[in-house]
Amino acid sequence: MALSFNPDTIHLPIGHFIGGRLVAAEGVIDMHRPSDGKAYAGCPLADEALVDRAVETAKQALKVSNWGGVRPRERTVALQRWADLIESEAETLAKLEALSSTRPVGHLVAGDIAVSAEQIRFFAEFADKEGSDLVPTDDGNFGMVMTEPYGVVGAITPWNFPVSMAAWKLGPALAAGNAVVLKPSEITPFSTVYLAELAVRAGLPAGLVNVVLGDGPVTGNAITGHPDIAKVSFTGSTGAGSAIMANIAATGVKPMTLELGGKSPQLVFADADLDKAAAAIAQSILSNAGQACVAGSRLIVEESVAAPLVEAIVRRMRVAKAGPTWDEASDYSPIISKRQLNRIHGIVEAAVSAGGECLFGGGPMDAPGYFYHPTLLAVRDSSSPAVAEEIFGPVLTMQTFADEEEALALADHPTYGLAAGLFTRDLSRALRLTRLLQAGTVWVNRYSRSRDHILPTGGYKRSGVGKDLGREAYQANRKSKSVLISL
Ligand code: NAD
Repeated sequence: MALSFNPDTIHLPIGHFIGGRLVAAEGVIDMHRPSDGKAYAGCPLADEALVDRAVETAKQALKVSNWGGVRPRERTVALQRWADLIESEAETLAKLEALSSTRPVGHLVAGDIAVSAEQIRFFAEFADKEGSDLVPTDDGNFGMVMTEPYGVVGAITPWNFPVSMAAWKLGPALAAGNAVVLKPSEITPFSTVYLAELAVRAGLPAGLVNVVLGDGPVTGNAITGHPDIAKVSFTGSTGAGSAIMANIAATGVKPMTLELGGKSPQLVFADADLDKAAAAIAQSILSNAGQACVAGSRLIVEESVAAPLVEAIVRRMRVAKAGPTWDEASDYSPIISKRQLNRIHGIVEAAVSAGGECLFGGGPMDAPGYFYHPTLLAVRDSSSPAVAEEIFGPVLTMQTFADEEEALALADHPTYGLAAGLFTRDLSRALRLTRLLQAGTVWVNRYSRSRDHILPTGGYKRSGVGKDLGREAYQANRKSKSVLISL
C-alpha cells in the first residue's frame, strides 16, 4: 500500500457530528500543520447550545434504540462491525490524522489505527460477558449487585494520539451501553469526526456517538458541566484535569476518569542488558518525538554504566529519520506547534543555565515545520526545570545513582506517577522495586505497551484518577446498584 500523500488534496470534514450526520460549521480556531507550519483550516467552536443539542440527541438515541437494554451480544456485534470498517478505512483515517497531527502516516496504519480497531473489539466482548454478582447473604435474603450504564458519557481527548484516545473512550462506554458526546482536541479533530461517521456506517444507532468540536474553556466546559452528562472521561494535561475537577465540583457531582500527564523514570542497573535497555529507552523518547503521556523522559542510571548506555542511546538518536507526517518513510515526528517547540527549547536552555550539560541535540532542526532534535541532557539534580516539568518533547534527562536507595529516591517524582521502567537481570530486585515504585504502570526490561489490552493504564499522584483499558475501563462505564430482597 503506497501511503504517502499530498496534504493539499485531502478533503476535511469540517463540522460537528451530531445525530448521525455532519453538521457543517465555520472554522474559527486557526490550525497549522506541524510538518510544514502551513495554516490549512479552521476548527469550529461548539457553544453551550450546540453541546446541549448533542446531549439531547444522545439521550433520544438511547431511548429510541434501547442501546443499553438490547441483548448485549447485539452491542458486541455492532461494535465488531465498526472495528472491521475502521480497519478497511484505515488509509482514509490515517491521512486525515497525519495531515494535522504529529503521527506519521505509516505508523498510523500499522500501529494506532490497527490497534484501536483491536481495542474496540476487546471492549465489545465485555458487553455479554461482564455481568452482575449474586452476593452471599443469610437464608432469609437474596442479595445482588447489578450494574447499569450511566446514560450519556462526556469524553474529552488530547491531540497526541487522536484516534487511539477516542477509541479508548468510545470502546468501553459504548460496549457498556452508554451514548457518548466526545470533544477531540481542537488541534486534531478531523479523524475523530470520521471515526464517528464510520460508527453510523457500521450500523450503530445514529446519535449514539456525537462529536462536538471546540476548545477547552468553551466546549469542554459545557460538556463537563452539563447536568445530563452522567460521567466524564478525560485524557489530557494535569492542569486541564484540575480545571475539569473544579468545574464538575462547581456544577454538580459526577464520576470522572482523568488520564493526565507524566514524567516517567527509567531505572537502569549495571547488571542490565544494556543494549536492550538503550533500544527501549531511545524508542520511548523518540516515539512521537516524546509527545506521549508515558514517554520515559527521565533516565536514572547506575554510575558505572552511564557512559556506555549514553553512547548506545545517542547512536539511536542520531539516526532518527525526521520527515513530514504525510511521507510514508518518515519515522520521527514534528512537535505539535510552534508555541510548544519554543516552550521545549526554553526548558532545555533553562536546564543548561541551571548547570545541565547537553550530551546530544538541544535545539530545533533546520527544516520546515516544527522539528526538534532528539536531546539528551545530563542534569545536576532533580531541581532542574527539565526534571520538574513534563516537557512533552524529545528530551531525555539523565541522572546517575550509586545504590538502590538513591535510585528509588530519584525515581520518585513529586507530581507525577504515570509509568516507570526498570532494567535489571536481578529478579529479586525487579520484584522488590516494582512494589516500591510509585507509578500506575511498571515495565520491567521493556518500555512500551503490548497488545494485552487487559492491562489497564492510569496514574498515581497527579497523573490521574481511574483507568483506561482493561476490565477497569469497562466497569468504570457502568454504575452499580445493590439489591437486597427479603425472602
Ligand atoms: P490539554 O490538557 O491541553 O488538552 C486535552 C483536551 O482537553 C483537549 O481536547 C482540550 O481542548 C481539552 N481541555 C483543555 N482545557 C479544558 C477544560 N478546562 N475543560 C474541558 N476540556 C479542556 O492536553 P494536550 O496538550 O491536548 O495533550 C497533552 C497532555 O495529555 C499531556 O499532559 C499528556 O501527558 C496528556 N496525556 C495523558 C494520557 C494518559 O493516558 N495519561 C494520554 C495522552 C496524553
